[in-house]
Amino acid sequence: MKRSPVWHPFTQHALEAPMKRIVATEGAYLIDEDGERIFDAISSWWVITHGHRHPAIMEAIRRASENYDQIIFAEYTHAPAEELARGLIAIAPAGLEHVFYSDSGSTAVEVALKMALGFFHNIGAPRSRICVLEQGYHGDTIGTMSAGERGVFNAAYEPLLFAVDRVPFPEAGREQETLDAFETFCASGQVAALLVEPLVLGAGGMKTYPASVLGELKRIAERHGSLFIADEVMTGWGRTGPLFACEQAGIAPDILCTSKGLTGGALPLAATLCTAAIFDAHLSTDRRRTFFHSSSYTANPIACAAALANLGIWKTEPVGERIEALAAMQRRRLRRFEGDPRFCNMRQAGTIAALDLAVPVGGYLSDVGPRLRAFFRERRLLIRPLGNVIYLMPPYCVTDADLDRAYDAIDEAASAFAAGRL
Ligand SMILES: *Cc1c(COP(=O)(O)O)cnc(C)c1O
Repeated sequence: MKRSPVWHPFTQHALEAPMKRIVATEGAYLIDEDGERIFDAISSWWVITHGHRHPAIMEAIRRASENYDQIIFAEYTHAPAEELARGLIAIAPAGLEHVFYSDSGSTAVEVALKMALGFFHNIGAPRSRICVLEQGYHGDTIGTMSAGERGVFNAAYEPLLFAVDRVPFPEAGREQETLDAFETFCASGQVAALLVEPLVLGAGGMKTYPASVLGELKRIAERHGSLFIADEVMTGWGRTGPLFACEQAGIAPDILCTSKGLTGGALPLAATLCTAAIFDAHLSTDRRRTFFHSSSYTANPIACAAALANLGIWKTEPVGERIEALAAMQRRRLRRFEGDPRFCNMRQAGTIAALDLAVPVGGYLSDVGPRLRAFFRERRLLIRPLGNVIYLMPPYCVTDADLDRAYDAIDEAASAFAAGRL
């Protein structure tokens, strides 16, 4: 067979099984060319919140496409973007008053970094450093890779990555080390911003840490006049329980990045929200203080309409109850593995459940992830472990039966692994 010209993301084509074509999506399922229904237990890389093809979102897309395609977003504006910005400000943590649109989580974070540097530049007190949590992930562009954990994923690009100040991840019982390290970096007076994923480090291995630490980090940043950037690209839209994870710490960031669930996952869109102080630092008759950023598809009206429909769903449907129910479903099922020596580090943050497959020390770890993935795939489950970290982040429409099937398969996979049959 002639090979496909398509180059897939995060895919080693030399090792990958032939790809199944998906012909439709529905609720918690992907439907493939053979008519098989695959349970999307990771919400198609964390984007689908309510379920695939929520009728209200699809209807909004259809209607918007009757009036709009793409419209230049300088000089001109449009109702979907205006209404969405007001809607976002109304539900976001207090103090966020402006919305800058882009089209992916990575660009939302790039925009945030530029806003932070631009703020200090424009007020005439430039700062040069960005502080991050170790093991964080913020995207795959040069800037966001710089801020993320370094490793095999970005080794080739190292020459272009800029240096950031890394604070240790707040491991249980060692939270003070994290806070002290941040305080020390701040003392230089050069930290423009702390960039963090609130409560859960996603791609870094679904590592969770307490809201109290998040709150303390915010207070330290405040004391030193450093900006606090919440990368809520994964944690937003109810994944950890409340709409935004920051709410659990009772804090309001200076900048908030949202993308993935913003349109319910239906279309690419991102927003970087910021305070009036940051906007005002760019407001000047001096053109040099302009915020110099755009992408061609800034604020695509159809994507904005999809996001508005998503906001509508949050207002009119019992989304909070579904999230609570899902969190309870996950909690009950995780219990089955309590004290089970095949697993360690069971953890949960709202709708997200994760556990580590206990692996012997050694080189085997490197391909346990792909082996597990193949095992789940054979069982019509879309579960993509991060190394030996198995996690489930299903859409909120998931049923008990779907989750049972996923947990049964995890159980089976662990036994197969223990018996050397994986
Ligand atoms: C996925 C993710 C990003 C990057 O989003 P893309 O849309 O893939 O560019 C950034 N930050 C976090 C926390 C993410 O989980």
